Amino acid sequence: MDMANILLVYPKNPVTFWSFDEALKISGRMSAFPPLGLLTIAGMIPDHHALRLVDMNVAPLRDEDLSWADIALTSSMIIHWSSLEQVIARCNRAGVPVLNGGPLPTQYYEDLSGEAGFYLGEAENGFLDVMERMISDPGSVKREVVDRRGQFQDLAETPLPRWDLIDFNCYQNMVVQMTRGCPESCTFCNIPFLYGKTTRIKSKSRMVQELDALYEAGWRGTVMAVDDNLVGNREAIRVALEEEVIPWQEERKYPFQFFTQASIRVSDDPALLEAMHRAGFDEVFVGIESPVEESLKFMGAQKNLQGNTPLLEKVRVLQRYGFEVMAGFIMGLDTDPDDIADRMIAFIQGAGIPVAMVGILSVLRDTPDYKRFSRLGRLVTGMKYSYTNQGVFSRQLSYVPLIAPDTLLERHRKVLETINSPRMFFERCLTSLENRGRPPRQKPPVGMAEIKAAFRAFWGQGIAGSYRREYWSFLTRVMLRQPGSFADAVSLAAQGHHLILTTQQALRVDEMKTFFSEAVDRLEQYCQGYREAFHRNVEGYASQLMRAIHGRFAHYQDEQKTLQHNAEVLLRTAQEQYAALKGEFRQQVHEHLEKFQREIERILATYGDAGPLPQPA
Ligand code: SF4
Repeated sequence: MDMANILLVYPKNPVTFWSFDEALKISGRMSAFPPLGLLTIAGMIPDHHALRLVDMNVAPLRDEDLSWADIALTSSMIIHWSSLEQVIARCNRAGVPVLNGGPLPTQYYEDLSGEAGFYLGEAENGFLDVMERMISDPGSVKREVVDRRGQFQDLAETPLPRWDLIDFNCYQNMVVQMTRGCPESCTFCNIPFLYGKTTRIKSKSRMVQELDALYEAGWRGTVMAVDDNLVGNREAIRVALEEEVIPWQEERKYPFQFFTQASIRVSDDPALLEAMHRAGFDEVFVGIESPVEESLKFMGAQKNLQGNTPLLEKVRVLQRYGFEVMAGFIMGLDTDPDDIADRMIAFIQGAGIPVAMVGILSVLRDTPDYKRFSRLGRLVTGMKYSYTNQGVFSRQLSYVPLIAPDTLLERHRKVLETINSPRMFFERCLTSLENRGRPPRQKPPVGMAEIKAAFRAFWGQGIAGSYRREYWSFLTRVMLRQPGSFADAVSLAAQGHHLILTTQQALRVDEMKTFFSEAVDRLEQYCQGYREAFHRNVEGYASQLMRAIHGRFAHYQDEQKTLQHNAEVLLRTAQEQYAALKGEFRQQVHEHLEKFQREIERILATYGDAGPLPQPA
């Protein structure tokens, strides 16, 4: 068979709460995780082909990469929508056939633009055959869909990832996968559709091979078990941890510190919790989803209602076993009470969950919710999940909520603004550290990279940061109460840096969008003679931005001069606010700013030369 140059491309992650960009700047790494899917695909590809991997979160995709390639392969998640379409467009322009796999094409291939192959389902079902066919007949590739969904192979078929294709220094964490699939029935979740309702688990010997491969490639530090739900088959995973992973870690003096995602059912399984702790797990992400029982029932999250133990106590159990608990929450369910925002905030603060990811319900394809909302005629179709355009506080909902959309968005904003304020975030860190019943089995290694990271944190957060007082107050309290947890506190605070800054930037973006759409109306009203109403409305704005503008407005006798001056103030304020945003957040308002400028020019052209403005009614 002919040799081919195969280019593996991982699209760019947008800035989200999950991207941890600001924390990565502190640690000096470029991405939180390597592209495990592509590295695994690389492991399947026969040796006679030449491979090159471009992770766009680490290095740009260059034209010379495309001119080198006979074929490009991508793997992507829903967050990669914009970036993937750009990669496909570049491949099309360069005449390089491109084959796309992963959760995004599997669910949304119909809505993705470009001439490309779309492979739906798990790669083990024949991805390679499709790739070879495309290589041997490149001219024939137009838009093609190969559907292998619903077939779930034994994980013994999955090769070891090709760790030699990446530079470990670029990444904060490494990843392994021990299981796939989930037996739970959360109505918002697409995992059972994508990976099956039965938990498939790798053989014990295979798990050890995976750990060996990472260890021998030179990795030491944190490793995420990227399983959909590590404890989907509790008995099997406990045995694997006890018989293989714990001895492996003990023998090498715990080179890896694990974290994972697991259903909170694990809290009532002391033997499994003990095994996880002894295997070196010290963090766990759980889907708590909601503190409201009716909402948990609405979303089929029975996993959280099992037994009589309250959810807060289940979190405490995990903390007592030595785990830092991270959690996901969902708002916007039909059953949410009016005080949902306050209840979310109270739960998250009370439980001491530093990293709490709170989102509005997303109705994804191939989920029970998709069918439910479709049946009810409440599905919003044709939306593209593009964070670049939507921003962290998306105004685009994927379903019609029972309450006014603005009310829902306002509640969501309130939760994030509150929990990711520096004071509230550091309070939770303290609670989490105080509730931790025992320290991790082994702390991450401290070398020159970690020392440099600590200095970057002290500078970025403690000296140049806008919340330095809260930062030092937190670290001082940790030093006084739990000096042994100081390094963990610095590391937690670095994660908080991302959450705090991202929230602040996202709030600015949101405020600017509101400002753009409303300021033009107000200025026009003013021009049309409703000056009093205009000033009353400006005063009524809660936003800082509008208050700042109001303070800077002049009130000249000469109406023309007033209009000109106030328009300039609006433009200047918008440009200052725009300049204060960080790169990717600017993109989210760029179009809005341009439109705003055009609107101001239109108003000036309409009213500026038309003689005196009309008097107010
Ligand atoms: S437990 Fe997690 S992975 Fe499993 S169905 Fe629920 S949300 Fe999905």
